[in-house]
Amino acid sequence: MIRLRKFLNSIKDEFKIIKVEKEISTHLEAAKLLRKHPREIVILENIKESDTPVISGICNTREKISKALNCKIENITERIIQAMDNPIPIENIRKLKNYNSQKADLGKLPILTYYERDGGPYITAGAIIAKDPETKVRNASIHRMMLLDKKHLAVRIVPRHLYNYYKRAEKKGEDLPIAIAIGMHPATLLATTTSVPIEIDELEVANNFHDGKLKLLKCQKVDIEVPEAEIILEGKIIANKRADEGPFVDLTGTYDIIRKEPIIEIERIHFKDDSLYHAILPAGFEHKLLQGLPQEPRIFKAVKNTVPSVKNVILTEGGCCWLHAIVSIKKQAEGDGKNVIMAALSAHPSLKHVVVVDDDINVFDLDDVEYAIATRLKEDDIVIVKKARGSSLDPSASSDGTTTKVGVDATKPLKESEKFERVAP
Ligand code: MN
Repeated sequence: MIRLRKFLNSIKDEFKIIKVEKEISTHLEAAKLLRKHPREIVILENIKESDTPVISGICNTREKISKALNCKIENITERIIQAMDNPIPIENIRKLKNYNSQKADLGKLPILTYYERDGGPYITAGAIIAKDPETKVRNASIHRMMLLDKKHLAVRIVPRHLYNYYKRAEKKGEDLPIAIAIGMHPATLLATTTSVPIEIDELEVANNFHDGKLKLLKCQKVDIEVPEAEIILEGKIIANKRADEGPFVDLTGTYDIIRKEPIIEIERIHFKDDSLYHAILPAGFEHKLLQGLPQEPRIFKAVKNTVPSVKNVILTEGGCCWLHAIVSIKKQAEGDGKNVIMAALSAHPSLKHVVVVDDDINVFDLDDVEYAIATRLKEDDIVIVKKARGSSLDPSASSDGTTTKVGVDATKPLKESEKFERVAP
């Protein structure tokens, strides 16, 4: 059994879980409370508008994620790469039962409205599972979904795999059947955010995280299998129909614009006994880490290709886990730092600033990184690339989508390395 509840039970002595008993409204009040506890798991037990409690923060620190993946913090990237490269087919597929199954009424879910100007209440921790209309390969990915009415959601779908499936179904005039899983084990959730090729099923990546023990449940109305989750929705993305979606607060803590996006129609809802509704606070650490951390393997792989002695890559939380990277290397040749800069900037096109440090610098300690910049940066150690394609999430990007990128090589020169030797702490 790979349930969120079981994970919570396994970490309860190690991590603080804040349980709030007083009545809280889904409209702004819950989000306000979650912002007060940015690094803790919070359970809102008494929701004014729903019988289902809200949980948030299960992935809001690297510590919790490393616990979910059963590895050390500094090995998270390697662990994700290992799973992405070795997906494990899932054989254990059973009927969806022992759930309280009902006709669609999204009003029963505690869907939160997070910020004043949000376009509506948003499902933020829902993984959409679909099958390729031709090859039947499964896809699982997280999308924000704005509540329209009791049966409908507007869903933001960027041009990746689900978009590809949907467009191909739509071309034939067909709806795309989907299921939505809310409240999964954090390792399963993290797997749905990895960027594996379209022919790879993210749930098989999840199965690697779970050492081949992941079980799937066969939906009742749609031909789709879903991982065990607290709440499962069944429905379809409707062909040739769009609705306004947004505004919504994105990674950078700023409002994203309103767009015309596809519409999901929900047919069935299944609740686990004593189910928890997982809500990810937009622009909170859980949002940043879940979106950013799976990009670290991409950067790591590209850097390793040019400088094999790369030690670690992180997208920093201050840079929204999206715009800033720190890379540590065991420098072997003069100029390694510059090559790392070029590799990192092209591996993750949204990256704006990258700092390269030696392997005696702890990339998780920003004071240590600053120390490297302060004491090891010399003239000609900065690379500036003007007018490169930037991130659509960056409020400072030009209207044509370009931005200036900066790479900082804060590694010691090989020749005079004794001059830079630090005394032992
Ligand atoms: Mn995919």
